[in-house]
Amino acid sequence: MNAPIQAIRGMNDILPEETPRWQHLEQLTRDWLSAWGYHEIRTPIIEQTGLFKRAIGEVTDIVEKEMYSFTDALNGEQLSLRPEGTAACVRAVVQHNLLYQSAQRLWYSGPMFRHERPQKGRYRQFHQIGVEAMGYADADMDAEHIVMTADLWRRIGLGGIRLELNTLGDSDARARFRNRLIDWFESHADQLDDDARRRLHTNPLRILDSKNPAMQALIEAAPRLEHDLDDAARAHFETVQRIVRAHDIEFRLNHRLVRGLDYYNYTVFEWITDELGAQGTVCAGGRYDGLIGQIGGKPHPACGYAIGIERLLALMEHAGIVPVDAGPDAYVVFAGTHAEAFAWQSARSLREAGLRVVLHCGGGSFKSQMKKADASGARFACIIGDDEAASGQISLKPLRDAREQARMPVEHVISTLLSKDCA
Ligand code: ATP
Ligand code: MG
Repeated sequence: MNAPIQAIRGMNDILPEETPRWQHLEQLTRDWLSAWGYHEIRTPIIEQTGLFKRAIGEVTDIVEKEMYSFTDALNGEQLSLRPEGTAACVRAVVQHNLLYQSAQRLWYSGPMFRHERPQKGRYRQFHQIGVEAMGYADADMDAEHIVMTADLWRRIGLGGIRLELNTLGDSDARARFRNRLIDWFESHADQLDDDARRRLHTNPLRILDSKNPAMQALIEAAPRLEHDLDDAARAHFETVQRIVRAHDIEFRLNHRLVRGLDYYNYTVFEWITDELGAQGTVCAGGRYDGLIGQIGGKPHPACGYAIGIERLLALMEHAGIVPVDAGPDAYVVFAGTHAEAFAWQSARSLREAGLRVVLHCGGGSFKSQMKKADASGARFACIIGDDEAASGQISLKPLRDAREQARMPVEHVISTLLSKDCA
């Protein structure tokens, strides 16, 4: 016998007992996004590697060590599985000139791929729902994104997710801050770890994002970007905070919040939970006014965020929000020469009436079929023997309560199963 083949480490099967939770969240997020006027966009899972290098930045964890990249064996193109959704979304908007007519409120969802060390809340294939608003320069859109995520937590029934906010200013402010940071870290070079030393001249802001415990004291004492902000950046950030406050959403200003990706400016935010251990960020995003130009489009301001679905599901489970798959309304069992055709026909009529119906497959005695009916979680068994088939009737047996079995025409089965006191 061949040895069984396992799934790739860090890439999970989502089994039938888990899919109801996914579907519940997917339905809920679709309704939520449509309530906020966002439209779905779907892009390929594979893109040119160059897109991610350009969008995310060469000197980032994602591009340096987390991307699944390969050479197309047929034409030699350098390709990557998408590690995030924003780059492709911007690429598609530019390619199809979507901003020509109007600004866009967009969303996407699906699997993302990063070669990370798998652990709880961190996988190599994981799922995100992302939101991007392109063509919006003002702070009201940054605020909309924060307020709408708070609305999602409310719709799901989740409390206790903290909001952290920061501003990165415009590119001039970042440039000034960058120089001050380099000077300061250079004067403390003996305390830098390898990652920080490597990034000192390419991406010093990223040092602030370091999770190395040995670096924390140094980072805490580092200069702050606050001092480099101009009036416009301050006003933008004030407006975001004012709108967020007006919605009674609490937040903490975190001057070290710089985000893992290169393309952010102005507002950055994260929603963090303390319930999931180290992998506590469930949602992260901010403004990226420079990105569309960087991808080769006519420059347009934009902002967006992404939600980690696995982390959100873990949080829901932790909070006891566990939807289960409702069994079928009816399980049809049948035996006898005339019964088969009538059973298929009855199942069809029930389904056409909007009921969920499982028709027994594989034959067997009534007794063994009834065991399957019970195990299916169905509310009722529809029992069809030659007798029933001859009279055009079904014996309807409640499986979840003590009511009596009764024989009736298909129309009565339908009205019984659809009636409220049977739901
Ligand atoms: P982290 O600091 O946890 O690595 P990140 O900054 O790399 O996060 P983003 O690129 O901003 O994360 O992705 C947005 C969200 O997607 C994260 O807040 C998280 O909820 C989720 N996410 C990111 N990477 C993973 C992963 N490997 N497995 C599961 N979820 C992830
Ligand atoms: Mg990461």
